[in-house]
Amino acid sequence: YDIAELRRLDVAHHLPAQADWKEIENLGGSRIITHAEGCYIHDGDGNRILDGMAGLWCVNVGYGREELVEVAAEQMRELPFYNTFFKTATPPTVLLADKIASLSNGRLPHVFFNSSGSEANDTVFRLVRRYWELKGEPKRQIFISRWNAYHGSTVAGVSLGGMKAMHATPGLPIPGIEHVRQPYWFNEGRDMDEEAFGTLCAQAIEERILEVGPENVAAFIGEPIQGAGGVIIPPKNYWPQVEAICRKHGILLICDEVITGFGRTGKMWGHETVGVSPDIMPMAKGLSSGYLPISATAVSAEIIEVMKTGGDFVHGFTYSGHPVSAAVALRNIEIIQREGLVEKTGNETGPYLAKALATLNDHPLVGQTRSVGLLGAVEIVADKATGARFGGAEGTAGPIVRDLCIANGLMVRGIRDSIVMCPPLVISTAQIDELVGIIRQALDEAVPRLRA
Ligand code: PLP
Repeated sequence: YDIAELRRLDVAHHLPAQADWKEIENLGGSRIITHAEGCYIHDGDGNRILDGMAGLWCVNVGYGREELVEVAAEQMRELPFYNTFFKTATPPTVLLADKIASLSNGRLPHVFFNSSGSEANDTVFRLVRRYWELKGEPKRQIFISRWNAYHGSTVAGVSLGGMKAMHATPGLPIPGIEHVRQPYWFNEGRDMDEEAFGTLCAQAIEERILEVGPENVAAFIGEPIQGAGGVIIPPKNYWPQVEAICRKHGILLICDEVITGFGRTGKMWGHETVGVSPDIMPMAKGLSSGYLPISATAVSAEIIEVMKTGGDFVHGFTYSGHPVSAAVALRNIEIIQREGLVEKTGNETGPYLAKALATLNDHPLVGQTRSVGLLGAVEIVADKATGARFGGAEGTAGPIVRDLCIANGLMVRGIRDSIVMCPPLVISTAQIDELVGIIRQALDEAVPRLRA
């Protein structure tokens, strides 16, 4: 490739996702990623970068899996596309639904396919409201979500999510969605112990339910661990209380497993890690390890029984259950199971990452390190004693440290005053040492910049 020309064309014609287009223009175009293997990506300038983000929280089995290429090619030869609108289905689609149902231990035996996590949540939105209507409780329409949650970029996804910058679109969020505080102890709860803070945050949900009337509430939706919000790991007592509150008021519990599914937290599902059992579970990303777009919404038998009383559910996408994506997802899950990646994350690399990150706690800029499985964050502070930030509550130290990580050969994400990571589940302990070593180097280099 002519990389300079690609960068010129990028500025002239391409609008990258969730980006400041002016900034990219000033930079002379996006970094062009040309190829990858294992846990490393390569850019057009010849840099080899350890991918601490698994693409975008998704390449769980790592890059360069020939068998996924082969299975996609075989399926394209056999049947590249067919829809599920005409009372039709394809073999990989049906087999993948069966596989997901079995992975949910039979508790969520019905699976609807979409192409993205955002669509999986749009499906949730329509399904839940229709369900309550058919069940004879049409007033139950309100969703409760958290500030700083991320549930996607479509109209329903943005609205269910709690990203204030995304709500800045006129007309959003759509009505009927209530946002409550997030269980972000390091930012909002350090004056109390973690358990007390967990209870406080769970109680905020119940208070809101009582405010709007339990008879009007359809569902609570949350990521078991908030990902894009900054890898926010709630106090251990938070989720069980949330589940109890939902059950007490007859409200559906939705766990958005788009990031936390498929081994990321050291168990197959994030909801197992946090100890709850949802009624609906949207998933994407690790479902195909990002090799092709596919997402799924897994649903309880009780909900689908009610849905079946209502005739057609007039909802679906051309690519619902795309056979090539489904074939790749099936083989991807087979790899995850064959190589024991969930157990490896839970027993070996996850605990190793936690220990390695903890070695950063002596650094003058580090306020906290935290991780669960292979999902981690480092909080950057100006003052270790008080936890004061460099840029006030909504600081910008994260992006500065992120850029220094990238310059040193590690891709991470900078979120406000933290950096977050989510490497492929095939990362080795030596590569975790490399990852943490580069973070330390970047932090050292950030000191004069941040203190200037
Ligand atoms: N839900 C969660 C928890 C996510 O993290 C994301 C994306 O990061 C989404 C939904 C949206 O997924 P997509 O970008 O595939 O639409």
